[in-house]
Amino acid sequence: MTGEITLRELAGLDVEILKGVGEKRKASLHDYGIDNVLELLSTYPRRWVDRTAEARVSDLVPGQEALVLVEVRKVAKIPMKGGRSMVTVSVGDGSGRVTAVFFNQPWRARQLTEGLQIAMFGKADMYRGALQMTNPIIDLIGDRTGRIVPIYPQSEKAGLSTWEIAGWIENALERCKVRGLLDPVPIAVCEKYELVDRTTALWNIHMPESIALKNDARRRLAFDELLRVQLVLVGRKRAFERDSRGIKHIVDNKLVDRFIAALPFGLTGAQRRVIDEISTDLAGPHPMHRLLQGDVGSGKTVVAVAAMLTAVQGQHQGAIMAPTEVLAEQHFAGIRQLVAELQVPDPQNLFGDRPLRVELLTGRVTGEKRRQVLNDLASGGVDIVVGTHALIQDGVEFNSLGVVVIDEQHRFGVEQRAALSQKGSTTSTSDVLVMTATPIPRTAAMTVYGDLDVSVLDELPPGRTPIVTKWAAGPILEQLMWVGIRDAVAHGQQAFVVCPLIEESDKIEVASAETIYAELQVGELQGLRLGLLHGRMSSADKEETMNKFRDRKLDVLVATTVIEVGVDVPNATVMAVLDADRFGIAQLHQLRGRVGRGSIASQCWLQTKDPEVSSPRVDALVESTDGFYLAEVDLELRGEGTLMNSMQKGASDLKLASLRRDRDLIDMAREAAFSIVDADPTMVNNSGLLDELDLLLTPEDAEFLFKN
Ligand code: ADP
Ligand code: MG
Repeated sequence: MTGEITLRELAGLDVEILKGVGEKRKASLHDYGIDNVLELLSTYPRRWVDRTAEARVSDLVPGQEALVLVEVRKVAKIPMKGGRSMVTVSVGDGSGRVTAVFFNQPWRARQLTEGLQIAMFGKADMYRGALQMTNPIIDLIGDRTGRIVPIYPQSEKAGLSTWEIAGWIENALERCKVRGLLDPVPIAVCEKYELVDRTTALWNIHMPESIALKNDARRRLAFDELLRVQLVLVGRKRAFERDSRGIKHIVDNKLVDRFIAALPFGLTGAQRRVIDEISTDLAGPHPMHRLLQGDVGSGKTVVAVAAMLTAVQGQHQGAIMAPTEVLAEQHFAGIRQLVAELQVPDPQNLFGDRPLRVELLTGRVTGEKRRQVLNDLASGGVDIVVGTHALIQDGVEFNSLGVVVIDEQHRFGVEQRAALSQKGSTTSTSDVLVMTATPIPRTAAMTVYGDLDVSVLDELPPGRTPIVTKWAAGPILEQLMWVGIRDAVAHGQQAFVVCPLIEESDKIEVASAETIYAELQVGELQGLRLGLLHGRMSSADKEETMNKFRDRKLDVLVATTVIEVGVDVPNATVMAVLDADRFGIAQLHQLRGRVGRGSIASQCWLQTKDPEVSSPRVDALVESTDGFYLAEVDLELRGEGTLMNSMQKGASDLKLASLRRDRDLIDMAREAAFSIVDADPTMVNNSGLLDELDLLLTPEDAEFLFKN
């Protein structure tokens, strides 16, 4: 082959072409997850040890942690009582000697052989007049020379050493020198963002002369990863805009104005702004594809109704899809109330107006009622329909579905989103508004929802009293928690008790909830009217319990996380979450959102068993009620892995880039992706990049790709 080497070519080269890789090494590399040269080159060091910056043995100070680069001198394995073992390893660096002591790591005797170079990190101590480190962290360096030594992730199982990997990488990079590596990122982009070229980056991530050069290399390679993701998302967004025709809604409509005027409250600034953003989308020729993020209670429903009414004004229909029947029914009741009395223009009526018609469609709407709703949806007699995924089933037809609202996005997949918007008509695609009450940080939103436009409701309606959150650590505070609940009930208010989350088994969780319910009835909450709500109850039973609670026939609802989403009972002012440290931040935030919905001050107690151990998640909840702040903390604590895995398969390519640390790179990559895609919509002039997307992203992501 000729020309510069592409990543695809590297991916086609078996590792066995490398010096020193035979059958045995090849099998080890396979166990390690590396079969081809591209996989080898994109196995990045997990650390870089700077020889010149590390301590000498003679510098070690007892009681302080330090990293030393030393040679293994002598190894001894000492059996101890009860079959346990101790391995002592004498090491030194010319300035002095120190002993490493390993307890219950007998394999160290095999790993650390005489003459081996190692990096050793730990706390130095004096033991019988000599320096020693107990169970230090060891990185094998082998015979690598150079100022900075890369340390690759090690795997005991594969039996590969970090210097072997480094050696093969060097060999591979050497052999790329003659033809050179293709750098498909436009030079203008590299210049604008001051990125080093790809060859330099690959050399310097693996064999840097200085930490600064390594940092530049990492920046470039992380940018490439993010650029690929953004190219897919931006490409998908542009393709969608290009290929689908939307309805140009008339937005200077009186219906929305009348709706807003009739509300018992004024809109918040954020609601006004977001309704404007949506109106602009709706008036445009392309279908809207927008994500609405808004914390619990920020008033997303009003915004959704305004969007749907815009469609209705122009003789189209609106649909809102919720993840559960309970939620759909709640939305239905709420929306009916919001739009009561509203009249819509009716061309068939001499007087020009008829009442707006809102209907419910869930699995529970059956028989004659269902037939009627389906009929009237098809004929256009129903203006707004509220439902569950029942809405996207076959047999549900709309006269002209203009605006689709999907509530609680994280419970629906991208496919379901698409299914509903395809119900529009054969000639146009419905406008789609996705609403989520799970705030995600901006960088994550850009990466996970990068094909959507994003609106944020970042202002709560006035008059809410903030929820006071307390950590109930240990028995005494726990008692205060129960007193808090009794007190609220004595004042005519209501409370939730959330049972511990037991992820392993639904069955055990329910059993534990039943036990707690029974115990509270004769214990801490004796004399109060308790109800139990959990996921294994029938819909009818759940509904009955919810209705009783709503009608104040119950004082306290003992529940599993089934109450996480949407339950709206403004008279409930206290929540106690048991074993709160088992829940995630987002989940606790959602749960807490069930109180503080009225004008009375609310409290949320987060109980944990061990008063000594604080949980960073519980701490965060105590500290703040701002969903976006909490989302940042969550990302910080959990890392992006979980987030990305659950949401965006294409992002599995992110090896170096971090959604937390690389905010500026994400902005740059997104900007660059727009400039590349907009200048070259089918990527004909960027075939090198296109080929990499095809190579590195999953088929689902690559599928849409810049098709003509
Ligand atoms: P979300 O779905 O964002 O959690 P909702 O739309 O359910 O929030 O609104 C929560 C409550 O706030 C509802 O009772 C709603 O009527 C009320 N609300 C919405 N907007 C305003 C506003 N601008 N001023 C006062 N109350 C509002
Ligand atoms: Mg809501």
